[in-house]
Amino acid sequence: MDDPILVVNCGSSSLKIALFTRQEQRLGSLLAENLNTPEACIRLSGEPSSLNLPEPGSHEQALTMAIDLFRQRGLIRKAPLAVGHRVVHGGETFKEPSLIDDQVLVAIRACSALAPLHNPVNLIGIEAAQRLFPGIPQVAVFDTAFHQSLPAHAFHYALPQRFYRDWGVRRYGFHGTSHQFMADQTANVLGKPVSDLSLISAHLGNGCSITAIRNGKSVDTSMGLTPLEGLVMGTRSGDVDPGLFDFLSEKGMDAGEINRILNRESGLLGLSGQSNDMRTLCRMAEEGHQEAALAIDVFCFRLARYIGAMMASLTSLDALVFTGGIGENSAKVRARTLTHLTLLGFELSRENNEGNGKNSNHHIEAPASRFPVLVIPTNEELVIARAAIAHGLERIG
Ligand code: AMP
Repeated sequence: MDDPILVVNCGSSSLKIALFTRQEQRLGSLLAENLNTPEACIRLSGEPSSLNLPEPGSHEQALTMAIDLFRQRGLIRKAPLAVGHRVVHGGETFKEPSLIDDQVLVAIRACSALAPLHNPVNLIGIEAAQRLFPGIPQVAVFDTAFHQSLPAHAFHYALPQRFYRDWGVRRYGFHGTSHQFMADQTANVLGKPVSDLSLISAHLGNGCSITAIRNGKSVDTSMGLTPLEGLVMGTRSGDVDPGLFDFLSEKGMDAGEINRILNRESGLLGLSGQSNDMRTLCRMAEEGHQEAALAIDVFCFRLARYIGAMMASLTSLDALVFTGGIGENSAKVRARTLTHLTLLGFELSRENNEGNGKNSNHHIEAPASRFPVLVIPTNEELVIARAAIAHGLERIG
């Protein structure tokens, strides 16, 4: 048995790890939370209890303990064959995954100005893994890379050009690994080469974004300079009137506070005043909670508007595809959204929608629908594992 591929997704206080064989079979996964606090702990998926990490509960300790746990369960013998790292921002430098060397590390660090909350912690994960596994190929996979094919008319903001020239202010887009996976999976489901495929991919999880994909390439997407733009999300507002900033600063709020509220206290949580969790809101709405119902309505209407907007970048449509925790599981959200789009000819099969496409080869559209509508579970970790194999193992032999 070959040793497996390790996939590392490093957040500010968390670490998600998955192990895949070269044949793309998932062997196990693990989550470490509350890192760098006295409550730091780690839990293998499928196991009931978590283990405490010794102080200071760092990312490196979590990674070391993760490998020990995988070894104890016989999932890994010595070291991984290769490591794939999720990196949030690749700026305009990275158009595809990259085998990490000193130059790549410098370039990832340079992109930190665009993602100050994300790239520095992604680098912590990379450096910890380099110390633990010297000589093992490590590959960075960027959330932004898939969207580097956006045409100029889709990525420019109507702002003074010097903002773009001097500071890189433009639309980058995120969730690229998930949208790319949707393109590949849709090609499989429809039996068409991905290079001939046009689709709209809606990734609806705690973060949400939608992408128009033409001939297999991203041509428009709802997230922008940061992952705040676009759809309503769990705690993020998505689009607001830029005039809001002046209005709120007149009310005495500073930039940090406005940023925190738009990122952490808005979206479904802000609208409902109850929860950022769609499942909870659906339950509350059914019990008659009006603000929970309003939050779902705003979420679905904004999504419908964006599906319409994505049509401007396509000349044909092979499928509208839903993914992410909400996209994969909420028949209500999908149905509510598409009731706004009957003019475009979308129609759902009630039975297949309620079955989340599981017994209908992912299809949930009605026979009379103008376009296929699919539900496809995302698997961003698998995309990262594939990239680690392609860019880490196959390139170096
Ligand atoms: P993710 O970030 O992809 O894990 O997605 C998390 C979101 O998916 C949360 O808002 C969950 O409430 C939502 N979700 C998961 N299962 C369901 C479900 N059965 N119905 C509605 N929302 C769901």
